[in-house]
Amino acid sequence: MSDRSRIMLLDKKPDFSDESSRWAAVTVRNKAADDVFFYSVLTTGVYCRPSCAARLARRENVAFHENCAAAEKAGFRPCKRCRPNEEKREIRQAKAVEKACRLIEEAEELPDLEALAQAAGMSRFHFHRIFKQLVGVTPKAYATAHRAERVRAELQQSGSITAAIYDAGFNSNGRFYANTGKLLGMKPTTYRKGGEETEIRFALGECSLGSILVAASDKGICAISLGDDPQTLVQELQDRFAKAILRGGEGEFEQWVAQVIGFVDDPAKGLELPLDIRGTAFQQRVWQALSEIPIGTRLSYSEVAEKIGAPKAVRAVASACAANHLAVAIPCHRVVRNDGALSGYRWGVERKRTLLDREVDAA
Ligand SMILES: [Zn+2]
Repeated sequence: MSDRSRIMLLDKKPDFSDESSRWAAVTVRNKAADDVFFYSVLTTGVYCRPSCAARLARRENVAFHENCAAAEKAGFRPCKRCRPNEEKREIRQAKAVEKACRLIEEAEELPDLEALAQAAGMSRFHFHRIFKQLVGVTPKAYATAHRAERVRAELQQSGSITAAIYDAGFNSNGRFYANTGKLLGMKPTTYRKGGEETEIRFALGECSLGSILVAASDKGICAISLGDDPQTLVQELQDRFAKAILRGGEGEFEQWVAQVIGFVDDPAKGLELPLDIRGTAFQQRVWQALSEIPIGTRLSYSEVAEKIGAPKAVRAVASACAANHLAVAIPCHRVVRNDGALSGYRWGVERKRTLLDREVDAA
């Protein structure tokens, strides 16, 4: 369960202490009244939660009860629809998903969807949808991100690569090497040394928005940043990849930089670069969604959250936008506040405004 929904559950409820406020709650199916009282319907012999979706009964047939036991003692059966005597569906689902997360974390192999759904007591399709809704990513992406996290932690602590492989739950070296390239963006040996042997090429340029730095690992572009002072941009890159070898780029690389600068100055040109996106599974989902926002279009943080199927994760979406290292290429500048205000931009809100204005002209 997310912190937000936990807080909502703990929030003080209106007290629904008299019959008229209880009846009012039943007529609007007020969820806030659930578990505060129950109501029974004389004509059906059934008792319900206030939020039950069943057809509204006539007021004269309705009685109120403090709890299920009292309703049952008065001779009523629990409604089959809202199941007033069982835990609420949202809570049952949240618990099932939490359990699934633990199963994924503890498993040696990525558990298959069928097994997870079965453990959660849901159909495959339903489980997948609920998991994604509550966690923000699919079970598979969650498992992959968790595995990567473990490998990283192990590599940084343990002296031997082989020990780390076994500790992290990979049972053969072959599989480990087959997987980690994708997870870490570097080979295990280089990662353990803090990126020591990794080479990062970079180039600086000037564009209409000021200085621009573009850097790439052998997997693709890993940083695009904008600023007033080129020295600061290089310093930031060095801080982020503390032990990597930074080299000035040449040849093909210069062309990439030219492409980025060209795009910044004239967004209609479009941008097709191999990107090395480093981030958590959730951030990657957000960044993927951002890269699908068409030029000249603005989305709000809520709309992006909606788009990735995690409508409640608005704040997490905003953080993922702020964590973007690839200015322009991952167009986080196209995300604005719900009221249309520009909100922040890692590389300065004035640059965001300029980019957006230009895209409107270009689109
Ligand atoms: Zn009911």
